[in-house]
Amino acid sequence: MTLQPNSAEIAFRAEVREFVRTHLPPEIAERSRTSVHGFRDDMLGWTRILASKGWSVAGWPVEYGGTDWTPLQRHIFEEECLQAGAPMNNMQAISLVGPVIYTFGSEEQKRTYLPPIIRGEVWWAQGFSEPNAGSDLASVRTRAVLDGDEYVIDGQKIWTSNAHFADWIFCLVRTDPNVKPQQGISFILVPADADGLTIRPIESIDGGISLCEVFFDSVRVPVTNLVGEPGKGWTYAKFLLGNERTWVAEVPRNNLNLAALKNMARQEMSRGRRLIDEPTFASRLAQAEIDLLAVEAAVLRDLAIPHDEARALPIASVVKTRGSELLQDVLEMQMEALGVYGAVQYEEGASSPVPAHGQEVTASFLYRRSASIYAGANEIQRNIIAKTLLAMDPQSTAPAAEGDMAMLRESVERWVADHYSFVDRTRYVAEGTSAIRTHWKLFAEMGWLSVGLSGDVGGFDGGAAETGVILEAMGGALAIEPLATNLLAAQLIDKAGSEEQRQRLLPAFSTGDLLLAFAQEEPGARGQIDRIATTATEDGNGGWTLDGHKALVIGASLADMLVVTARVADGVGIFLVPTDTPGLTRQDYRTIDGRLASDIIFDRAPIPASSMLGTPQTILPILQEAIDAALYALCAEAMGSMEKALWTTIEYLKTRRQFGQALAEYQVLQHRLADMYMRIELSRAMLMRAAEALHDPDADKRSKMLSAAKNFICRAGRFVGAEAIQLHGGIGITEEYVAGHYLKRLKVIDMLHGNADYHLNLYMQAMISEA
Ligand SMILES: Cc1cc2nc3c(=O)[nH]c(=O)nc-3n(C[C@H](O)[C@H](O)[C@H](O)COP(=O)(O)OP(=O)(O)OC[C@H]3O[C@@H](n4cnc5c(N)ncnc54)[C@H](O)[C@@H]3O)c2cc1C
Repeated sequence: MTLQPNSAEIAFRAEVREFVRTHLPPEIAERSRTSVHGFRDDMLGWTRILASKGWSVAGWPVEYGGTDWTPLQRHIFEEECLQAGAPMNNMQAISLVGPVIYTFGSEEQKRTYLPPIIRGEVWWAQGFSEPNAGSDLASVRTRAVLDGDEYVIDGQKIWTSNAHFADWIFCLVRTDPNVKPQQGISFILVPADADGLTIRPIESIDGGISLCEVFFDSVRVPVTNLVGEPGKGWTYAKFLLGNERTWVAEVPRNNLNLAALKNMARQEMSRGRRLIDEPTFASRLAQAEIDLLAVEAAVLRDLAIPHDEARALPIASVVKTRGSELLQDVLEMQMEALGVYGAVQYEEGASSPVPAHGQEVTASFLYRRSASIYAGANEIQRNIIAKTLLAMDPQSTAPAAEGDMAMLRESVERWVADHYSFVDRTRYVAEGTSAIRTHWKLFAEMGWLSVGLSGDVGGFDGGAAETGVILEAMGGALAIEPLATNLLAAQLIDKAGSEEQRQRLLPAFSTGDLLLAFAQEEPGARGQIDRIATTATEDGNGGWTLDGHKALVIGASLADMLVVTARVADGVGIFLVPTDTPGLTRQDYRTIDGRLASDIIFDRAPIPASSMLGTPQTILPILQEAIDAALYALCAEAMGSMEKALWTTIEYLKTRRQFGQALAEYQVLQHRLADMYMRIELSRAMLMRAAEALHDPDADKRSKMLSAAKNFICRAGRFVGAEAIQLHGGIGITEEYVAGHYLKRLKVIDMLHGNADYHLNLYMQAMISEA
């Protein structure tokens, strides 16, 4: 599976873009860009234009006038339309009632109602919610009583979007009050001009109108207006609400809003400089952009999975919740970008001091507070997520693997299951070096040390994906073997070493006979790749003298050789330094997550000329590429720890009882589980983005995406690790129980090669320099 568009998708996007460019009337685009609530004529007019191309009901089956587009093509289509300023279509008609009619309706209903929708001739509104039936839709009270061949409807609907210009309203009505609430509901079609039907618009907090109340006072409709069977309305409503998996994430709108926000931040001034150059604002903007990258990746990932194979995991609820929250965050930033003019009340067409780029911003901000309420309030989404998780067996968010990758994953997971229970792990931590050395030989035999190395030195020519699979399983097991640092050091030798260095060292590395460690971090550098105070000075005899202090060198006490970065006269050098070099002293310690690490002091340590990897002129890009790969490996390791932390917590909440019931029954705890899971699912999508970025030929783009992933996943890790402890109560804080150890691992991962804040900063700098 890939998130990257293929050539057919790129061509499809170009075709849509061209059609929209040449057919969307500019005055409609202008009105829709600057209005919060749509105009009936514009929205239906645009549907008519699309109908001329056969695209007005693209998501419907071909036999009913739709297209054979994939879900991803529909996403691209929506994105292009929105990007160009096209108005929303009548979503209630095209995405909601239309599919119900062609799936459950009679042939007569299909002939009567579908063609006008396709041709953009009628407006449909959705009459589900009532004053006393909001989230709990099954409690609708509006009644429809059979009287001859007519139903007589009495009651009230509320929040009926755009009912004031609707031709038809599809409603949930109670036709049988004597059965279980869900079984007594029917789905009925009501003309908006029926006698006894009154529509009263409601002004929303932005000052605009699209919400309405609808009153039914003995409204008569023919019995043929009932869709499907009486009493099956609840089934149809569930079908309708689940019909669109991912549009609710509002990714195209979010992308558009974020681009608009950046544009505003370039034009708006703050204390004498561009707002985008203001670090506090820029960092919020960068954070929103990173978060949106994750939501978008989750949506693309979901769209790539055929509908009938959709995973059991509640992905639609995840992207709806985070997508709507982001929509609100970005609109809030837009409003703040306007400074004092964010306070001005928006009135369509009225003159105002607000700059052109921000006319309707405040109104949008206010109106879209509803994004977390409509289409299933976010609290309800959290209920759905938690209920799904609690009913499931532990399940990874990892995409299904195929071929060699599937075999590798299976073998690593099997090894971990056989060798790395938490009890085993506790013993390994106590044993330290001897346990690691035993496992190291096994890793070599299973080929795990060679996955990323070139074939000519005994490697498998694999790459980040294979490393990620191994590291993820290790993260889940909280393994203490210094795999990541070894693989990084070996990769540097492979990429930058001379033929002699590669052939001398890497075969021995693959067989487990040579252990490496990567000595890059220094006190105060906090991950900055070229902040190196350690120096290598030419000694006048063709060799070098090393001086300096390296910090948190994981696995140094086991290593035979260190790969050390040092400043040289004309840049940065990387050196191969045997651990028994004179002038090298180690201070060994254990990290909070049970690993062995050291600080290393070089005091006039002599090293031969032949120990240099590559040249100072060429080494930095290679170092950056290797560190980007290491960031990916760390993110994969964090995924493993987060998923295990989640499922450990779920199991605990199911069994632990307080106040006479399982903790899992408390909604406050369910929502916290949902919040953990949301971050994990989005992290998984971000990890996929990172994996693809590693192949990006543009090094700057690659590093920027890796920073985004490190930031997102490490922030998720902080949250998931801490929540796992909190939801366990006292036991979570004990050393002898596993829950607290995930936080420790996740915290150490965060610190390595720059923490989440550091990478946010890098991402922000790159964003500003592009602005
Ligand atoms: C802009 C907008 C457009 C809309 N358009 C339409 C439309 O066209 N047609 C239509 O039929 N409806 C429409 N709605 C209605 C919408 O579906 C409801 O507002 C929504 O279902 C919530 O119902 P409620 O407003 O009655 O809030 P309530 O259900 O009363 O909820 C109030 C708060 O309590 C929370 N809550 C409720 N139950 C639970 C629970 N079990 N666990 C935890 N928290 C809970 C909610 O999440 C919310 O935060 C629209 C709403 C808005 C805001």
